[in-house]
Amino acid sequence: MKPHPATKIIHPEFTVPEGFAAFPTAIHHASTVLFEDVAAMRNSHQAAYTYGLHGTPTSRTLEAQLAAIEEGKHCLLAPSGLAAIALVSLTFLKTGDDVLIADNAYGPNRELGQWLARDYGISARYYDPLIGAGISELIQDNTRLIWTEAPGSISMEVPDLRAICSAAHARNVLVALDNTWSAGIALKPFNHGVDISMQALTKYQSGASDVLMGSVVTRNHDLHVRMEEVRRLLGMGIGMDDVYLILRSLPSMPIRFAAHDQHARKIALWLKSRPEITKVLHPAMEDCPGHEHWQRDFTGAGGLFSVLFDPRYSEAQTDRFVDSLTLFKIGYSWGGAHSLCVPYRMKNIRSNWTAQGQLVRFNIGLEDVADLIADIEQGLATLSK
Ligand SMILES: *Cc1c(COP(=O)(O)O)cnc(C)c1O
Repeated sequence: MKPHPATKIIHPEFTVPEGFAAFPTAIHHASTVLFEDVAAMRNSHQAAYTYGLHGTPTSRTLEAQLAAIEEGKHCLLAPSGLAAIALVSLTFLKTGDDVLIADNAYGPNRELGQWLARDYGISARYYDPLIGAGISELIQDNTRLIWTEAPGSISMEVPDLRAICSAAHARNVLVALDNTWSAGIALKPFNHGVDISMQALTKYQSGASDVLMGSVVTRNHDLHVRMEEVRRLLGMGIGMDDVYLILRSLPSMPIRFAAHDQHARKIALWLKSRPEITKVLHPAMEDCPGHEHWQRDFTGAGGLFSVLFDPRYSEAQTDRFVDSLTLFKIGYSWGGAHSLCVPYRMKNIRSNWTAQGQLVRFNIGLEDVADLIADIEQGLATLSK
């Protein structure tokens, strides 16, 4: 058979020369995955490649690297950090079950709990992130899952993960951790009893404020397989170009993270000396709630922390402070090279919030520290105007 031009374009006769080698992982785009023959198709199983939606060698490579960073065994990518949270909750909760969510958890995680409670007959309760072993009093016979976040990414309390995990495991309850702040570098969650570690790769793994992605890592094969099935049924897929961007950023993550940590601690210390600030909520600072757990479990800190302004400053004044910053931009997310600053209305987020003074959160980027401090200093000067 001599193919016609249209066929030749689709089935080129050219085969690429062998002998090519390079560092980057190849980007395998695919919806259709090809099988060698019918028998191979009929015998294909979940662990193999079956369809692009469920992964290609590109995404499998990233999953393996992410599992290794957290010292886990299995990883699933999700289209965003929030999708990774939803994947965990939707896998392990069904009608009649109960979930305990830390009061300092990522806002949409709390909202997801409210939605599951309203529409799916699941009870969602919120607990004091510093409850520690006291969580055992909240565990009911139908409690299946406990969500923790270390530290909470606005109010920065560091939970006692070991105490929460041992209380949970004594009652056969799973513990899921939002480990985004530590990037899996400063905290190895499975060594402290955590069952499932979720991260927003959108933050440090991307490092460039340009990709949305999430991950769920476990050491337990059964938990992994259950989540893999739910991810498939929810149709959660990830674009391989995005996966490539994360693969590209990952090798520099440890040194970027260390730089964020160093810069943030310098700025946090400087802020501590300022009369306008009553409290610096940075886990490495002794007066940060749960500092002793950070000291025990973590080997470093992220670039994200918050401060409480002296209550004599009104919200309008601290808003003006934020508006007056020039290097610090106003925006959600973090983990990129650019510094960011966001004021939060804590009483709207947490009805039981009692701390006085306005809370402002800083993401410390990779700019020169002296310039960042000068920017904050000129911003603080606007307070007295
Ligand atoms: C950003 C973030 C998420 C959600 O990640 P997205 O990719 O933006 O959906 C979850 N948890 C924490 C702590 C985060 O900072």
